[in-house]
Amino acid sequence: MAMKKDEYKCAKCGGVFKKGWSDKETMKEMKELWGNIPLEERVIVCDDCFKEIHPEKNLEIARKCGYIK
Ligand SMILES: [Zn+2]
Repeated sequence: MAMKKDEYKCAKCGGVFKKGWSDKETMKEMKELWGNIPLEERVIVCDDCFKEIHPEKNLEIARKCGYIK
């Protein structure tokens, strides 16, 4: 399924959501969470899923989803 530019897919529940933020804000937030890691190794989860997991858990999810090999 093709996603619109202002949409993202949650890496945990797989739902597609509209971005409620600007890319600039996202990059800043991700940099704080992830540090300087390549864009393709970052995962985005929806707000509900984010509440359930810690940033370090994202790595686990990323691996499970095949974002990180
Ligand atoms: Zn989710």
